[in-house]
This record gives sequence, structure tokens and C-alpha cells, in this order.
Amino acid sequence: MKRILSTITALALCACAFAGSYDKTLRLDYIFSGTDKTAEISLARMHSIDGWFGRSVNMDKLLLRGNGQIRLNDKATGKLLYVNSFSTLFQEWQNEEEATRVRKSFENVFLVPMPDAPATVTVELTDNYNKVVASITHDVDPADILISPVEEAYPSRYLLKSGASEDCIDIAFVAEGYRAEEAELFFSEAKMAMESILSHEPFKSMKDRFNFVAVAAPSLESGTSVPHDHAWKNTVLGSHYDTFYMERYLTTLNLFKLHDVLSSVPYEHIIILCNTETYGGGGVFNSYMLSSTRNSLSKPVIVHEFGHSFAGLADEYFYDDEFVQTYNNVVEPWEPNITTLVDFDSKWKDMMEIDGIVTKADQAAERAAGRDTRKMDYTKADFKVGLYEGAGYMSEGAYRPYPECRMKINEYPVFCPVCERAIRTIIDYYTVEDR
Ligand SMILES: [Zn+2]
Repeated sequence: MKRILSTITALALCACAFAGSYDKTLRLDYIFSGTDKTAEISLARMHSIDGWFGRSVNMDKLLLRGNGQIRLNDKATGKLLYVNSFSTLFQEWQNEEEATRVRKSFENVFLVPMPDAPATVTVELTDNYNKVVASITHDVDPADILISPVEEAYPSRYLLKSGASEDCIDIAFVAEGYRAEEAELFFSEAKMAMESILSHEPFKSMKDRFNFVAVAAPSLESGTSVPHDHAWKNTVLGSHYDTFYMERYLTTLNLFKLHDVLSSVPYEHIIILCNTETYGGGGVFNSYMLSSTRNSLSKPVIVHEFGHSFAGLADEYFYDDEFVQTYNNVVEPWEPNITTLVDFDSKWKDMMEIDGIVTKADQAAERAAGRDTRKMDYTKADFKVGLYEGAGYMSEGAYRPYPECRMKINEYPVFCPVCERAIRTIIDYYTVEDR
């Protein structure tokens, strides 16, 4: 993606002229199943939704590799009509100890434009070495009588409408654990969440590329389930803490229902707001993000998780006391804000302000000298873009671009310059034709 495009807003206006002729969405529901060593993809259902709200530019181009990809090809000519990448909770779970003992299944949903003629869909899952570990290829005939509509409708409200769906990125907030009479509470918390995102650059200066709509799907009970307290609630998405037995990991596994709930509004990215004060959340690239709304840290957490789900940013934090081998030194991670130096040219080499590596020992020495970057007055911080050892949960072998960042700690108020550029690039990818 050429950076210059981001400054030429006239091109963004032209984007609509290149917009595809798609007027329907094909919703593909899959079951991913397996263990730590096996993976299988099965098609569950296909649905049709009026309107296409995904990218109408760069449809056959991929920006980030993700942990999997979906492609739609015309059956007669083989022409690539649409491609997208994603990550999944299933692949996260495959790294858990539980996956060595039991086979489990996870729901996944992808949205692609409804083809005009018979097409082929391919879904692939890849590992950390970018090797395909599971795939499915199947035909889609747009005339198939078993492609069914979904028509669930709930009270909804636009919080920001910058333009037509084909010109803007459509973000949907979904209420989780709000009873019908709590709809206004949900709308006000969705507004708070939107304002938190839009207070961060580059969202702030590019807000005219976004639409935000909020869907107040009612739950029978308030709150969310807390399994470690044996407290289960009847909520519309069945979200709960203790995902993969990690206490603060709050997710929903009901992706089919999540997309049912959204079927009456334009959406391409999903933010689930959970009606609870307890810290927690999660974000999965091009799937969804979820956060509690009334914790003192909810605002930075929502922006952090949106960094994962929208922009594919990696966590920049790491653990000093344990070594986790998240990434390797064979394949450069696809996330734009970390590197293992396999292909640093593709990352922020052009933005480097200091030479060499700032090692863990260097960082410890700074802390010992009273210059702890986690606690300083950030209005006076004089940070430089460089290579800082420790990122992506790994204390060694992975590097982040900046001492602190929204993707590292909740206290730091902004995205680092590299994350900011990465977000800018992905916003352009959605809204500016690269030609
Ligand atoms: Zn960053």
C-alpha cells in the first residue's frame, strides 16, 4: 500500500466509482474442529443477506496474511473475486493443554460478496510457519435454494454515519447481557466506546471513513457468565469468562448467533459490549472483539482489543518470568507491529530513529536508573522508534517498535507510531483503490 494514497482524499471519493456491483452478502457458517495436531473445516450453512458491506475496493488483494484466508473464485474463469484473512479462537485453543486431550469444535462465520454466477470458496488455516494445515474448497451456486435468509431485527441506532456503506468501514456494536429495559444504557456505553476509539490517532483524523451502528439485542438476564463463581446467566450471546480456563478471558463461542443478531444492519467489523464491571475481553483479527464496559480500564481495553480485531496488531507485551514461543525465526510474523528480524524490511525499518537493538538488559538498566517507561509522564516522554527486545509474549527473539504503546499497557495513552501507521494503512486498504 502506498502511503501517499492516504493523503489524497480525492481518490477516496473516486473509490465508489470502482465499487463492485455486489448487492448481496453470502454468509458462510463453518465448524472448525480438531486437536492440537489436527484440524478440519466443515461447511454448516449458507445464508443470504441483502446488501454488501465489506470492501468495495482492493477486493482481490490481501493486506495481512492472518492465520487463515478465505477466497472466492469465479467457477468458470477461475478469476479471484474476493479474498480476506482472519484469525480464530480455534487456533488459539490448539495451543492449550486441553487440545492435547480432547477434540473440540468451534463456530466460524465469514462474509463474502454473493457471486453473480457459480463460484468456488476456499478456506485455509495456516500455522506459524505459514504452512496450510487445514483447508476446504466447495462450490457455491447463487441459485441454490438452500441458501437461506436471516431476518432477526432488534432496536438499532447509528452513532456515527459518515457516508454510504460502500465508501465507509461499517462497525457494529452488539449488546451482550443487557435486558430490553437497559437498551439506553447500552447505547450510551456504545457511544463511550466509539469516542474512546475516535480519540486515538489515526482514527481521530480518519473518522470520516467510518460508520458506527449499535444493535441493542436484548438478553433475558443482565451481565455475563462467570464460570469460576459457578454463576451462569441467560444472555443473547452466551459470553463467559474463563475461556480456555483463563479467568479473565471473556469471549463468546456463539458466532452463528452473533451474526444472526446483526443480520438487519450493515456491518463488517464487530464490537461486542458486555454489561459487566469485571475486567476482561478479547479480540480476534477479522472476527470480533469483546470487552466489559464499566471497568475503570474499559476505555483503553476496548481500543486495545479493536487494535487486534480491526488492524491485526499483535500484543507488544511479554512475560519476563516465562518464555513463550509464540513466534519463530523462520517466518516473519504477519502482524505489522512486531518482528523476529526474518524480514525487517517489510516492517518499520524505514521509520527507525535509533540504531541497534535495545536489549532487555538495556531496558532493565533504564528502570534501575529510575526511568521506568511504564510509569513516566507521557507528555514529557522522548521515545524513539527502534527495536526493543520483548514483544508478542516473548521476552527474547521478538521485538516491538517503541518503549510503550496502546498494544502494550493500558496506561500509555496512544498507539505507537508504527501501530498508527499500520492502522492508517488498513483504513486505506478498505477505502482507497490501490492503483
Ligand atoms: Zn505499537
